[in-house]
Amino acid sequence: MEMEMGLELKGVCEKCGATLALGSVAYICSYECTFCTGCAGEMNFVCLNCEGELVRRPRRKETPTSGAD
Ligand SMILES: [Zn+2]
Ligand SMILES: [Zn+2]
Repeated sequence: MEMEMGLELKGVCEKCGATLALGSVAYICSYECTFCTGCAGEMNFVCLNCEGELVRRPRRKETPTSGAD
């Protein structure tokens, strides 16, 4: 039996291959292409794969605020 590739969080910059540790700052596009801070800056925060906007990946899920509406 072969092991299946899990859908784990990407931990490597797709441009330079730098390791992106969990909890470290990383940038992702809407297609979840992942880049390190340095590469994101070089690309002016535009994904080189899909030309989507790169946004900072949240380090933690914030607790949902109730009554925000
Ligand atoms: Zn990089
Ligand atoms: Zn992308």
